[in-house]
Amino acid sequence: MSKVKNLQGEGVRQLNRSYILKQIREQGPITKIALANYLSLTFAAVSNIVADLVKLNVIKEVGYGESEGGRPPVLYDMNWNSIHVIAVDIGVEHISAAEIDLKARVIEETTVDTQGAPLIERVYTVIDQLLERRTNDSVKIAGIGVSAPGPIDARDGRMLTPPNMEGVSNIDIKYLLEDRYGLTTVLEKDANASALAEQWFGHVTTDEDILYIFNDVGLGGGLIINARVHRGFGNGAGEIGHMAIDIDGPRCNCGNFGCLEALSSGIAIQRRVKEEIRRGYPTTLEEAFVRNEKALTIDLIINHAKQGDQLAKHILDEAGRYLGLGVANAINLFAPDQVIFGGSVTVLYPEMIKIAEHVAKQRTFSPFSERITFAQSKFHKQSNLVGAAAVIQQRLFDYPEGAFFLKVDRVVLSTSVH
Ligand SMILES: [Zn+2]
Repeated sequence: MSKVKNLQGEGVRQLNRSYILKQIREQGPITKIALANYLSLTFAAVSNIVADLVKLNVIKEVGYGESEGGRPPVLYDMNWNSIHVIAVDIGVEHISAAEIDLKARVIEETTVDTQGAPLIERVYTVIDQLLERRTNDSVKIAGIGVSAPGPIDARDGRMLTPPNMEGVSNIDIKYLLEDRYGLTTVLEKDANASALAEQWFGHVTTDEDILYIFNDVGLGGGLIINARVHRGFGNGAGEIGHMAIDIDGPRCNCGNFGCLEALSSGIAIQRRVKEEIRRGYPTTLEEAFVRNEKALTIDLIINHAKQGDQLAKHILDEAGRYLGLGVANAINLFAPDQVIFGGSVTVLYPEMIKIAEHVAKQRTFSPFSERITFAQSKFHKQSNLVGAAAVIQQRLFDYPEGAFFLKVDRVVLSTSVH
């Protein structure tokens, strides 16, 4: 029995709906009996949900399975091309938008950088570009999912004041995008969105709890507990980046000292490399540093580490050990089934995951933590984007009664430009 079945009423129905969808996505074509057996649900419960999904055009009948005496059972599969969603990934340096189908395949993608205009204008630009490029108007767009750096107000869909994005303060993303495009919009914190991508489209089964670590410019975390994003009071849960690791540690962009982000993120790695170059530590990165401090990007540091530069390697491995400490603390607190890593630092330098795993497993209390799986995100650099798609898909499948099949109207687009 799955551990989520003790929920009540509508919550159970929503969860069962997402389980059934995931099974059909992975195993389809499939019969109702097979779904009921797979998920330990009653045939009646499966029938109700399948009928809803057929009505919504999300799944369809595709033929008959083998008869076991009586009438042959109907086979169901995803109606893969019935709807697409728009996914938007607001990053510290870039904003991407993509049209994504129910299999998490990217149909079309556009990217702009965040410089030069107010953030919301850049978001409009990237979505407008995406919509202008659409050639297949017969596939409906069902909604917009947005992934953005925290903190956010998830209920109202508002970005608050992300510490690594100067000048961004209280942007009503949900309200503004719904108003402009007439599409249901959901905003989620980047690490939560990525965690949901793993559960919705990745290798995680629906009854596994996961800790997702997004190690990029900054360092964020997301928790999936009982198949749902765990938000906590005021959306404050999952902020592993601001877990205090060193009481006398370096100042973090959040204002505190010794946070995991200040010791293990892209920002931390860049700062450490500069410190050591100034101290005279020999490194092949020195030339780039002398030319232009800003040239010391994470990509460059990782490249040099891979080519054998000892300083780059030493600092990346040090960041990995700190990451392991943070993960050990998180495991002691809620013991997830899986720890999944995304963000450019671990995508470009997967060795860091091995180091973090080694340290984390050494430092945790439970003897069972040895069995916790450590893995890299299935979606590499696109994890936030696919996460944004998962966020809006989950919302649409949870509340299909809402504005589900709105079609983008080009008139709305061209007349509402402010
Ligand atoms: Zn901090």
